Amino acid sequence: MAKKKVLNVAIDGPGGAGKSTVAKAAAKELGLIYVDTGALYRAVGVNALRNKIDTKDEHKIKKMLKSTVVELRYIDGVQHVFLNDEDVSAEIRTPDASMAASNVSAIQIVRDFLFDTQRDIAKKNNCIMDGRDIATVVLPDAQVKIFLTASAEVRAQRRFLELQEKGSDETYEKVLADLIERDYQDSHREIAPLKPAEDSIIVDTSEMPLEESISTVVNLIKEKM
Ligand code: C5P
Repeated sequence: MAKKKVLNVAIDGPGGAGKSTVAKAAAKELGLIYVDTGALYRAVGVNALRNKIDTKDEHKIKKMLKSTVVELRYIDGVQHVFLNDEDVSAEIRTPDASMAASNVSAIQIVRDFLFDTQRDIAKKNNCIMDGRDIATVVLPDAQVKIFLTASAEVRAQRRFLELQEKGSDETYEKVLADLIERDYQDSHREIAPLKPAEDSIIVDTSEMPLEESISTVVNLIKEKM
């Protein structure tokens, strides 16, 4: 009997472009699993911060990985990330964790360490996976590849509002500066840099209300279903 092919959707793009909000909503509407791969890098980054390890020190990070287990578990349909059996889903969302994730994600051994986790989920599930290198490296055969982007100012404003809702006192200027630094680092690294695949569809959400971003992505996926 022929094996039923799973549907894989790759959504890449810079921080704050709305990937997770859009992907989550589209996944819900279409009955797909949503996989946020940034959470995996964030968990590795948080582990380094907790152990006071320099997040750019390849040697020390490599050693740390020997005693690091990062898993994604779905509880009531919602993704949670576990670090050595502890749910760190909230702790990974701080600005420090963002920068730590960006630092450790430039290390090849960290990318190798998280690769199978991402591939295994995509092999077994119809899913929308969001990240930086999903269309280019993790799922080059994904049926739908979307590169979701927006201007740095719009993205910083969205991130700033998100942080404010959580009670953070970060200023807009600091959020914008961090975002620009992280984008630069993510797109200029040697391994798996942030960039669209040749066959990615670029969706710029700078001028789009959230509902329109969601329906644009949903329609692109529906064409392939
Ligand atoms: O998407 P999110 O902002 O949570 O990702 C945090 C960091 O993890 C990014 O800045 C990026 O450096 C890294 N990342 C990556 N590859 C992915 C997902 C995230 O390098 N597929």
